[in-house]
Amino acid sequence: MIEKIQQHRQDFDDKVSGCSSLEQLKQLRIDFLGKKGCVSGIMKDLRTVSPEEKPLVGKQINELKEHIEQSLEGKTSALQKNGHGVSGDAKGFDPSLPGKKELTGSIHPISQILEEISTIFFSLGFQVEEGPEIETDYYNFEALNIPRDHPARDMQDTFYIEDDVVLRTHTSPVQIHVMENQQPPLRIIAPGKVYRCDSDVSHTPMFHQIEGLMVDENISFSHLKGVLNIFLHQIFGEKTQVRFRPSFFPFTCPSAEVDIECVMCSGKGCRVCSQTGWLEIMGAGMVDPAVFESVNYDSEKWTGFAFGMGIERIAMLKYGINDIRLFFENDLRFLKQF
Ligand SMILES: [Zn+2]
Repeated sequence: MIEKIQQHRQDFDDKVSGCSSLEQLKQLRIDFLGKKGCVSGIMKDLRTVSPEEKPLVGKQINELKEHIEQSLEGKTSALQKNGHGVSGDAKGFDPSLPGKKELTGSIHPISQILEEISTIFFSLGFQVEEGPEIETDYYNFEALNIPRDHPARDMQDTFYIEDDVVLRTHTSPVQIHVMENQQPPLRIIAPGKVYRCDSDVSHTPMFHQIEGLMVDENISFSHLKGVLNIFLHQIFGEKTQVRFRPSFFPFTCPSAEVDIECVMCSGKGCRVCSQTGWLEIMGAGMVDPAVFESVNYDSEKWTGFAFGMGIERIAMLKYGINDIRLFFENDLRFLKQF
């Protein structure tokens, strides 16, 4: 009799471990604990056992019953946890399954370049300053030494909101805001959106600029050259040749256009650089004393330099992009390459 009980126990253990659905467990419960199940069968056989053996066999049967109950319960909750045996939407959550991969976007190439440029200037001790995109005529032109009849205004025609209010044509007004509110020494960069009435393969009505300004005692043109050389070498590579060409800006004197050796032909001359071997990359110069006077800085004590560049142009040269409009068409085939 004891042997028979052991056998049923073994039989049950084998079957329960092979169960993979709640349906199968249900059937197993009927087979073993049901009215016509194994356990009931043994109970009936108990009558045939001698009175001396009865207590022991009875105890064994109870233990078997308990063992089956517990095993079924344990297995049932294990299957429910794993979501097995339940059909369709009712499936449970399985924390051991690998996670679903969410589609992630990427950072826009303009933002990437902006971040790269900012990081370089951070390492040189510059801080980021921001200003409004809607500016008064005074901040956008006059305070920067561009009076109403100045020809430089033609180069920067923009969108007028009112007679004296414009969408800023450059990030330079940020310099004025900062100098009005802070005393030197200053080391700032001002990135942001600017607007002009242009639209072709190399111009869009909205584009991005980054402006830099350093003001301190005894700042000279050599500081300007040093800072811009470090910057351009980090962006375009250590071996990139840099040259400064005399130029004119109303708010700097002396002024320079900064060129780098053509990144397409390495200076040999090609279509991109108009066979010159050089690419114009930014404008720079020593801040005109008239600008310092408009913000009440003592131009005898303080000197400084400023520079400005188009972010799109840097990105186009760095990545070999030939149409600026691609940046703003939201074409994923283009954007996914970055
Ligand atoms: Zn070239």
